[in-house]
Order: sequence, then structure tokens, then C-alpha cells
Amino acid sequence: MTLFLRLLARSATGQEFTVYNTLSSGPRREGDQDGPENFHVVLVDNGRSEMVGSQFQEMLRCIRCSACMNHCPVYGAVGGHSYGWVYPGPMGSVLTPKMIGIEKGAALPNASTFCGKCESVCPVRIPLPKLMRHWREDEFSKHLTPKQPAMALAAGHSWPSVRHCTGSSPSFPAGV
Ligand code: SF4
Repeated sequence: MTLFLRLLARSATGQEFTVYNTLSSGPRREGDQDGPENFHVVLVDNGRSEMVGSQFQEMLRCIRCSACMNHCPVYGAVGGHSYGWVYPGPMGSVLTPKMIGIEKGAALPNASTFCGKCESVCPVRIPLPKLMRHWREDEFSKHLTPKQPAMALAAGHSWPSVRHCTGSSPSFPAGV
């Protein structure tokens, strides 16, 4: 616990210790002068248990420190709201397609230069580029790749020349 409290704050904001964690001690025990009579914890799975044993399992280690997004050149250029969902940045590009489906979130794992900075700064060593690549493979196998870049890539053009041909970077769907 102590280790992760320090990891979180240092990776997120560079502080020595966290300033935004809440410690809950549960219901009051016999003899305690105050405290709640009951203590309920509601865990919202939201598809996370499906990640256990899948190729995205490593993503479950995420402690939401935000180091990956703070160092991501794409996040730095477009900002958090551009990702259109709760989780922005590289970690969001892996998590969001899991929650809304790759059909709706296909643009997100493409919003990466694969520079590898996210993986190198992640305190729990999540291989984010590898996981985004899994989503790109899934997108390709389901024929969700936008036609122009797919045809250019199939013809053997490099990605920079594809961008030159189409005049654009991979674009987010409307509203994202
Ligand atoms: S993926 Fe790693 S760096 Fe990004 S928020 Fe999660 S723990 Fe932090």
C-alpha cells in the first residue's frame, strides 16, 4: 500500500506523497465512539473481468496515475477531451475500445506514434504500445480500417506517405 501511494503521486504529479487518496476504515467496531454502522462497497465491473486471461490482462494493473498521458505527444497535442470518453491518453486508448467496442473506438488505438514513452514511464510496466497493436490487429481483421490508408498500406506505401496521399492523420469519429 505504501509503495503504491508513493508510486501514484510521483508518477502523476511529481509529488512526494499523494494528496488525493481516501482511506476508508469500514464500519465502527464495538467500543468505537463514532463511525458508520454499516459500510457498503459497490464494485462496478464494467467489462473488466472479461480482460482476465485475455491479451489485455496486463491493463488491469493500471493504477490511473496518468504518467502515460503526461508523456504522450499525441495527448499533449490534442488534449484529454479529444478522446471522447472517461479515460484519455494511451491507457484510454487500450481501455475504451474494451468498453464501447472496437467498432466505435477504432480511432483510439490509432492515436499513437508508438514512440514507446508511455510504456517507459508506466510505474507498473504495462506494455501499452503492444496492447494498442492488438486493437489495431483486431480492427484490421474486422475490416474496420479506413479504406484509403488501408489500400495505400496494402500497396506498400509507408505511413508518412499515406498521410501525404490522404492529406490527413487517422481521424477520430464524429464527436470524439
Ligand atoms: S497505464 Fe501505467 S502510466 Fe498509464 S495511468 Fe495506468 S499505471 Fe499510470
